[in-house]
Amino acid sequence: MKKIIVAIDGYSSCGKSTIAKALAKYAGYTYVDTGAMYRAIGLYTLRHNITDEASIIASLPSIEVGFILVDGTQHVTLNGEDVEPFIRTLEVGNCASRVSAIKEVRAFLVAQQQAMGKAKGIVMDGRDIGTVVFPNAELKLFLTASPEVRAQRRFDELVEKGEHPDYQAVLADVNDRDYRDTHRAESPLKQAEDAIVVDNSTLTREQQMEVIIGLFEKKLE
Ligand code: C5P
Repeated sequence: MKKIIVAIDGYSSCGKSTIAKALAKYAGYTYVDTGAMYRAIGLYTLRHNITDEASIIASLPSIEVGFILVDGTQHVTLNGEDVEPFIRTLEVGNCASRVSAIKEVRAFLVAQQQAMGKAKGIVMDGRDIGTVVFPNAELKLFLTASPEVRAQRRFDELVEKGEHPDYQAVLADVNDRDYRDTHRAESPLKQAEDAIVVDNSTLTREQQMEVIIGLFEKKLE
């Protein structure tokens, strides 16, 4: 059967990974969460107290990012350690956003991401998948939702993890992250010209999946 590459981009906390995972499961494709790769490097810099750009670049040869399956769920690894439990905090998210602005860090991860897509049959989510990693992807989706809706979703996720976030702080963080992601010099988040925009502010997950599966099936025809 024909296999394609699905590129899903969009702002932070707009449900990209949930949708990407569900689509990969539906299609029997491999799912790759590129945000987790930037988060793993962010975690490395946090653990080693590395803040300046030159030191981050110098440490790249000592960093290996990979994925393993744990009970059927994808976990990211950092130098062989399963770091999934440590990367979903606001602090690591901010470190990820900072390291992701560095050209050398992006080149390091983009090469790995492109290699993962060689055999197609992949759903990859991130910020630059349809524009830089796979500009020829057969299906490109750009997911969006209002900052308030995304902040509420992230707030709920953090509460579920036992954290005690402040909604206004989470909203400010979402806005800051949006600004950094869209204004950085290297591969800023932007919609690919041929991407299909899906605003999910008022869609249930099921409604959204229906739309996306419809688009996917159409591409296979
Ligand atoms: O998607 P997630 O919030 O996990 O991504 C963490 C950070 O990694 C983002 O804020 C973004 O700055 C960066 N990122 C990126 N390019 C990607 C995926 C994530 O710059 N393809």
